[in-house]
Amino acid sequence: PVPAADDGRRTYELDRAHVFHSWSAQAALDPMVISKAQGDHVWDADGNRYLDFTSQLVNTNIGHQHPAVVQAIRDQAEELCTIAPSHANRARSEAARLIAERTPEGLDRVFFTNGGAEAVENAVRMARLHTGRHKVLSRYRSYHGSTSTAINLTGDPRRWPNDTGTAGVVHFFGPFRYRSPFYSDSEEQECERALAHLEQTIAFEGPATIAAIVLETVPGTAGIMPPPPGYLQGVREICDRHGIVYIADEVMSGFGRTGHWFAVDHYGVRPDLITFAKGVNSGYVPLGGVAISDEIARTFDERPYPGGLTYSGHPLACAAAVGAITAMRDDGIVANAAEIGATVLGPGLRALAERHPVIGDVRGLGVFWALELVSDRAAKTPLAPYGGTSAAMRELTADCAKAGLLLATTYHRVHVVPACTITADLAREGLAILDAALERTDAHAA
Ligand code: PLP
Repeated sequence: PVPAADDGRRTYELDRAHVFHSWSAQAALDPMVISKAQGDHVWDADGNRYLDFTSQLVNTNIGHQHPAVVQAIRDQAEELCTIAPSHANRARSEAARLIAERTPEGLDRVFFTNGGAEAVENAVRMARLHTGRHKVLSRYRSYHGSTSTAINLTGDPRRWPNDTGTAGVVHFFGPFRYRSPFYSDSEEQECERALAHLEQTIAFEGPATIAAIVLETVPGTAGIMPPPPGYLQGVREICDRHGIVYIADEVMSGFGRTGHWFAVDHYGVRPDLITFAKGVNSGYVPLGGVAISDEIARTFDERPYPGGLTYSGHPLACAAAVGAITAMRDDGIVANAAEIGATVLGPGLRALAERHPVIGDVRGLGVFWALELVSDRAAKTPLAPYGGTSAAMRELTADCAKAGLLLATTYHRVHVVPACTITADLAREGLAILDAALERTDAHAA
């Protein structure tokens, strides 16, 4: 058994001796030992409590230790811990039904994976086999996971050291008004020019060579940029015209994060494939998957699908999904995310921008918000370099932690991404801590 709780020292020492951490130079790491979590809070080994404004890696949409999800996992563990994917299993069947009921009309089949990257890998594989084409387009300023195709599709610096097998992956610019690659004057112009740029990229790559366009509906790690009205409809129309599969990556934006079950629901578009993970069961047990259109599913009616995973549709993970989705539905948790965004986080963050010169832009929806921190508002100079961090950013995270707030930052941005279950009072409490910490950060702004 895992040894009983200690003062955290043993845990820390064993971690430093034996655990190899993601995305990090190992020598300088100093991980916080977390000893428990409940709802919107986590506790370190010294008993300090933190309000979790990160949802960890933006996955605990239902908060920590939700009793319905914990119970669902317990019940499933008693009944059946694991079974091969070739069998039918109640937890898996029910999870697939609950997911298919929430995806847009006509995406009724689910292929389960262990997480987001595998979902992206399999969606791309399906698109390639369905179209008989090889190339895949994705945008700069995106994150799609760290396995080989997923990291090649990713449009952020983490791709650079992994860019060894890029054959067939082409990047384009998506719309992003604040740092527009199109020098636009309005959202309409940004949308129009971004679509023209995509058309041109397709024309020069050869439409008949392109299997899929992979797009986060609202890019998450890359900066939480809701697309302008009309952009995704435009992408849908371009895909239809050229026979290209539209893959919506909703690993981060799905399952309530934006105040709808899926972010595509805001824009009224129907992708051909939707990748999901994270919020589907809040990561209590690893789970991801691909929701598949009837048309693409039919490709594999007679022809075997050449892909699979030992743990595809793992009963414990699927039971957690059934528990999570059912509780989110019954407790109005998705509506809560929308309400908190519209009434507390949106107005609250915009008010912070009025007071703090270091805030250059505020954007988001639901419980999915980003602040751009800049040393010069007019020049929009980022407070940390692209792909890096800075003393000012480290200081802000540390000051928030000291005041009891876990804050997510990426490069020069703050990502405000609490659980979909957060109350207005706790959201205000977090904003107040951020407000106080930003006083010091303002000294870095001109
Ligand atoms: N796609 C998106 C949009 C993501 O945000 C992530 C993870 O953050 C992934 C894919 C990869 O998911 P995972 O880390 O579960 O492999």
